[in-house]
Amino acid sequence: MQQAAAGGISQDKMAALYDSAVRDTIRRFEATGSPIITDGEQTKPSFATYPIHGLDNLAPGGVTIPFADGHTRQLPKLTRGPFQYRTYAVSYLEEAKKHARVPVKQAVISASALSLLYPPEGIPGYSRDAFLADLLREAERDIRDCLARGAATVQIDFTEGRLAIKLDPSKQLLRSFIDLNNRVLERFTAAERARIGVHTCPGGDHDSTHSADVDYAELLPDLFRLTVGNFYIQLASEANRPRVLRVIKENAKPEQRIFIGVTDPISSQVETPEEVRDRVLEAADIISVERLGTTDDCGFSPFADDTSTARDTAFEKIRARVAGTRLAEEALDSGKRRAKTASAPSQREKRA
Ligand SMILES: [Zn+2]
Repeated sequence: MQQAAAGGISQDKMAALYDSAVRDTIRRFEATGSPIITDGEQTKPSFATYPIHGLDNLAPGGVTIPFADGHTRQLPKLTRGPFQYRTYAVSYLEEAKKHARVPVKQAVISASALSLLYPPEGIPGYSRDAFLADLLREAERDIRDCLARGAATVQIDFTEGRLAIKLDPSKQLLRSFIDLNNRVLERFTAAERARIGVHTCPGGDHDSTHSADVDYAELLPDLFRLTVGNFYIQLASEANRPRVLRVIKENAKPEQRIFIGVTDPISSQVETPEEVRDRVLEAADIISVERLGTTDDCGFSPFADDTSTARDTAFEKIRARVAGTRLAEEALDSGKRRAKTASAPSQREKRA
């Protein structure tokens, strides 16, 4: 991709490379046994900037995000309206569905992340309110098209949630982000929102993070105000997982499903299935297993130029996630069988 950006590879050659990368990812992802897969975001310039890549009303010099290792990422800024996406996530979904045999989850960027494109000094003739109206319409379409095209779920990447507390400890920024995203979500029915989820993490780029030092307990109560059915929550790399799990239990609404991260893409150490199993059992002790699922803590390379994690490592970690989740299911099932033989089955056991 860097070569293509520098003009070293023709459009046709690039399209062929993209196509083979998507095919290979889907083939290897399905081989892990994962019941739901993604395209690995092989052809996005980044998880955050795919809708705006190539727009002619952007200039450099927008919001800068500092990472713990000292490197930064800088967003562009909008120079004039109207604001419109150039690429919608459904285009990636359509490619993936050509090759996938199992359901596909599609990631989209949050409206709150793209709200950072509007410069604080304003744009003459294009108010912030006019921008937000355009942004809400585009963010809605980005999700709606994926649902219509048969995405198993649509995951809104909300990595700026935890970062927002670092930037503004009063939490006003975080709450404005959540309110903005809820303005997108209120355009969907309850049944549609059950197929929508939110991903939270401390950012992941070049094996570093931007907000791991922000306490989850500061984020989670507000996070669960997002009116979605599913949460994909980085957890494997947390120092005190039981504490985070208890905060989740206290704050998630009954209809919200919790997918906990059981592998850490920042670490090069591949988890064993037994480690994953133990993380699931630890979670099942605190959160009811009926609403519990597993995921990876984050994407393995959310920016296209990040080569810090090898493909083989990524798939080994996914394989461990799938195998470990299965081991946990077996352990939980045999635990239930033991309880059943020890006494007459209670209502609760029958339901489970
Ligand atoms: Zn993430």
